[in-house]
Amino acid sequence: MATDDPLIATSATAQRTNLLGLTRQQLEAFFEGIGEKRFRAQQVMKWIHHQGIRDFQQMTNLGKALRDRLEAIAEITPPQIESQQDSSDGTRKWAIKVDGGSLVEAVLIPEGDRATLCVSSQVGCSLDCKFCSTGKQGFQRDLTSAEIIGQVWLAIDSYDGWQSGKGRVVTNVVMMGMGEPLLNVDNVVSSMSLMCDDLAYGLSKRKVTLSTSGVVPALDKLADYSDVSLAISLHAPNDTIRNQIVPINKRYPIASLLASAKAYIDAQSDKKRVVTIEYTLLAGVNDQVEHARELSELLDGYPCKINLIPFNDFPNSGFKRPSGNAVSRFWQVLMEAGFIVTVRTTRGDDIDAACGQLVGDVADRTKRSARYRAQYEDDDVEEISLA
Ligand code: SF4
Repeated sequence: MATDDPLIATSATAQRTNLLGLTRQQLEAFFEGIGEKRFRAQQVMKWIHHQGIRDFQQMTNLGKALRDRLEAIAEITPPQIESQQDSSDGTRKWAIKVDGGSLVEAVLIPEGDRATLCVSSQVGCSLDCKFCSTGKQGFQRDLTSAEIIGQVWLAIDSYDGWQSGKGRVVTNVVMMGMGEPLLNVDNVVSSMSLMCDDLAYGLSKRKVTLSTSGVVPALDKLADYSDVSLAISLHAPNDTIRNQIVPINKRYPIASLLASAKAYIDAQSDKKRVVTIEYTLLAGVNDQVEHARELSELLDGYPCKINLIPFNDFPNSGFKRPSGNAVSRFWQVLMEAGFIVTVRTTRGDDIDAACGQLVGDVADRTKRSARYRAQYEDDDVEEISLA
C-alpha cells in the first residue's frame, strides 16, 4: 500500500502491536502514542471483545485513514485452535497453539445458564507439584496477555457467540489451567482486567478466580493490582505432607500462604469474600480421617470453603485415586466441623478433559495435568470440575 504516512511507511518491516491483549489503559496509551484521541480505545475494544472483529476495515466507526493506519501498525491476533473436542455432557476442550508452536489447553464447562472457562497462564510449569503431569513436563515460557485473553476470545468465537453482545458464552473464568498464574503475574493481571472490563467481557470479579500453589511474595502484592476471587492449592493438612507433594511449600510454608491469602481477601471491599481451598485427595497420602481432622483444625475460623478433588490418575503418576468411601469420610469430617465443602464431579470424561490427553495426543511435551479446576460462584455449594 502506497502511503505518505511516515508511521505506516516505517512500520512496514516493524512488528505490529497486537491489540488483543492490551488493557483499556494500555490501548488508550497506544492511541495517544500515535496521535489519536484516547476514546478510540473504547471503540476498538468493543469491536475486538464484544463483536469478535479482527479486521480493522470492518470497524466502521473509525475513519478510513485510521483504519489503514491501524492495519499497517497493529493486529488483532488470538492464538490458534489446534484441535477441539466436544464431550457428550457439553464440555468443550481446545488444544491451542501459541507463538513458537507450543500447545496449551482451555476447557469450557457449561452448566445451566453458566459456563466456566478454565484458562492456562504458562506453557508448562516450573513448580513440579508431584501429582501434576504439567509439572512433569517442565517449564517453557509465560503466555502473553494476548494469549491468555485470547483463550476467552477463542472460546466465544468457537460458539459464534459474539451476537449476544458481550460474549455470554463464557460466564466464569478460572485461572487454573496449565501454569502457575502468580509466576506470570503481569500478564495474568492484565488479562483478568480485560475479563472484568465492561468494554471487554464484563465479568464480575467474583466470577474470575485466580488459583495459586503458593507464590507468597506475589500474592502479598496482588491486592494492589487485582480484586478477583482467590483459590489456593493446599492439598495437605500439614507442612510435612505438603513439602513432599507441593515443593514450593518448602520456601513458603502453609502458615505464610494462609496468612497471605487472608490478607488478600481482607483487602477487598467485599467483606463476604472467602478463599477457596483446593485439596486433591491422593489415596494413602492425604485422604485419611486423621488428615481431615488435621485440616479441620488448621482451617478452624479461617474464611474459606473447601473443594475436594479426588485425584484423576495419569500414566506413571505414582499416585492413586481414593475410594468413594475415603472421599465420603473425608467430606463428612469437614462437614461436621461446619465447613462448606464441595466434591468435584467429573466432566468431559469421553474427551479426556480431565488430564490433558488432548494436548498429549498432539505434542507430549505439553501434556496437561490432572488439575483442571472449575468452580462456581462464591455462594454456590455445588461445584463441578474435570478432575
Ligand atoms: S499443580 Fe499447578 S503449580 Fe503445580 S506443577 Fe501443576 S500447573 Fe504447576
